[in-house]
Amino acid sequence: MITESRQILKKCFLCNKDNLLNKYFYQDQKINGTIIKSEYFNTKNSIYTCEECKISFCDDVSSDNLEKFYNTTSIIKPENLINRFKEFNSRFFSQVLYYINHCSLKENLKVLELGPNKLGILPSLKIFQNKIIYYYFDQIKINHKFDNVIKLGDFWIPKKTKLPEVDLIWMSHSLEHIHPNDLKDVLESFHSCLSDDGKIFIEIPYDIKNQDFIVPHTLFFEIEGLVNLFKKFKFKIISISEINNSKKKKDTNLRNISKNKKRKSIISQIYLKIQKFLPEKIVKKYAFKNFVLNGPNTTLPIIRMIVEK
Ligand SMILES: [Zn+2]
Repeated sequence: MITESRQILKKCFLCNKDNLLNKYFYQDQKINGTIIKSEYFNTKNSIYTCEECKISFCDDVSSDNLEKFYNTTSIIKPENLINRFKEFNSRFFSQVLYYINHCSLKENLKVLELGPNKLGILPSLKIFQNKIIYYYFDQIKINHKFDNVIKLGDFWIPKKTKLPEVDLIWMSHSLEHIHPNDLKDVLESFHSCLSDDGKIFIEIPYDIKNQDFIVPHTLFFEIEGLVNLFKKFKFKIISISEINNSKKKKDTNLRNISKNKKRKSIISQIYLKIQKFLPEKIVKKYAFKNFVLNGPNTTLPIIRMIVEK
């Protein structure tokens, strides 16, 4: 493994200082034995580190190629499975518990989520506040049977696509995907679309802690860098936590994702098959026991943060 860090003649996109280091490198990713390859964004791309900003980033992939990467790799599968306890999805459920531990959810809350995929935060938020107006951007159309679910578009282009006024912006594993050149526009747009005291919830994988550098992540933060970034854009930090900070290790040059990672107990598998025929009461009771995992559904370190306008 290469551990030597080299000084690079290049300016930081945030502070403009030209003392960048080349100390982290993208790793190959294997999914079920096959190394993922893309001509648009791959392990040949460089990661630059600014020791001033405590941020590492990749901006040598163009925005065009990044978009092509997402267009060629995103596979949209139709959702046939009836999931009657989707609101207890352990990632989203634990995020909402974290949020309500620090902030309340008022009536008629206007929420914007970036990239919810087919589930997103809405079902879990609805447990605690039924009156929500929910906006989102995603290539996928969400099928939740709730009122006031508004798709704003496939992609959000900051400063070009105007955002509605909202009270809360939800970013679960999306901040690390923003192109460095767009970060300033993204944070300024957020600041201007949030109502007074509006909040942003952020969850990102703690890639630096985990020494996990994978395509297509374009931003890698240290806690200090994340705090300074949001302060720089006039946000107040309500809370920041590092979760799952247990030491683990694996081959740092290769990231292996196997089917075993999401191993479910046999009872869970049987339950998933028969739950649609069962009365609601039983479903909910067993949902808690078998499906609400203890924690955020990952053993990797993550950072959670709430900021306020
Ligand atoms: Zn910098």
